[in-house]
Amino acid sequence: MSRVLFTDVRIIDGEAAEAYPGEVLVEGEWIAAIGRGRLARDDAEVVAGNGATLMPGLVEAHAHPSFTNARDLHEFARLPVEEHLLATIENARLLLDHGFTSLFSAAAAKPRLDVVVRNAIEAGRIPGPRLRAATQEMTPSGNLGDLDTIELTLPPQVRFAVTCDSPDAFRAACRRAAREGVDTFKVNVSGDRGFEEWGAGSAATVMTEAELAAVVEVAAARGKRVAAHATSAGAVKLSLRCGVEVIYHAALADEEALDLLESKRDCVFVAPTVGFPYTLLHEAQDYGVRHDEATRRKLESELESIVHNASAMRRRGIRVLPGGDYGLFCNPQGRNARDLEHFVKLLGFSPMEAIQAATRHGGALMGGPDALGCIKAGHLADLLLVDGDPLADIAILQDPARLIAIMKGGVFHKPPPTRLTQRLAAE
Ligand SMILES: [Zn+2]
Repeated sequence: MSRVLFTDVRIIDGEAAEAYPGEVLVEGEWIAAIGRGRLARDDAEVVAGNGATLMPGLVEAHAHPSFTNARDLHEFARLPVEEHLLATIENARLLLDHGFTSLFSAAAAKPRLDVVVRNAIEAGRIPGPRLRAATQEMTPSGNLGDLDTIELTLPPQVRFAVTCDSPDAFRAACRRAAREGVDTFKVNVSGDRGFEEWGAGSAATVMTEAELAAVVEVAAARGKRVAAHATSAGAVKLSLRCGVEVIYHAALADEEALDLLESKRDCVFVAPTVGFPYTLLHEAQDYGVRHDEATRRKLESELESIVHNASAMRRRGIRVLPGGDYGLFCNPQGRNARDLEHFVKLLGFSPMEAIQAATRHGGALMGGPDALGCIKAGHLADLLLVDGDPLADIAILQDPARLIAIMKGGVFHKPPPTRLTQRLAAE
């Protein structure tokens, strides 16, 4: 069994309130021991950290590995499946290169992209993070993701979303997705920005209780998770009433929705997805998109309410996780660790809280079967060796050059420079 010993590191373990100096021993896939002093060298490969930070690998809670930084959803539908698969493979690797050792997907842009890439990663055929594979977005007609009414009807294999208009239709879509091997059913319970003229703006709740209950029922029977796009207060409440555990956005959650979230805080995860609305408001012009005044005001108020609600959730002890719809034009893949900076600068998280949200809570979101997300004996050895102190500057996590080494399951994806490593004879 391989043994790797990290020495002279500052450990951020995902649980403790402070970083501490010590050593960490990895045996095979697992973290075997953490020492504040010196651990036995035996025949381990020693990585001398020279004071670098050792922390758990990051988890992206709202990943879209098949999103190709497109301007609009039509581009995803138009991309032929062969090119789309290659792009998804490249994105998976890119995210691992940037320190994300786990992705919880929030929808694939075509039916089997997540599943096929997950399987290839697990089989060791391609490099990539652990991946919880999602369905496409499943949505009622005339809502976020449904492109049919505004363009030619596309054949089902290239549709961006799966439209369902009854509990039975949702049930069938879930069962077919289960047959393909997804881990997560993604449903669009609310509308979204830009769909106002269909009566499906962000404040609208467009799935019925019977439809969502059908999805949750199939998920329970098949051992799947349900993740809900839920911007409206009604969608958050409906999702929680139906037993959905993964809530995205919650931008317009009201006090009643926040109370309900708090009452379920031990089983619920929320990813507010700050990244995309932030860049859409502040950086879209760098990509040639100019907002008119009315749009700008709407985006400002959307971001304000996301910040207000996610900050309230943090204070209420609800698990709020980084993950921000990276893979859309102004919010490209690979920059995902910027969400941690948003958590600190906008939502009032301390850098340690933001890191714990992306590691310990992220590991819990991934949902096993093995323990993940902390530097703790018995957890999977997903580790980052970071040049510098992310508690002093959370933004360094966005710079892959500062990631000295990246380990997933006890194997280096990015090995440390040879000058730091040494194999010692047993002492
Ligand atoms: Zn998304």
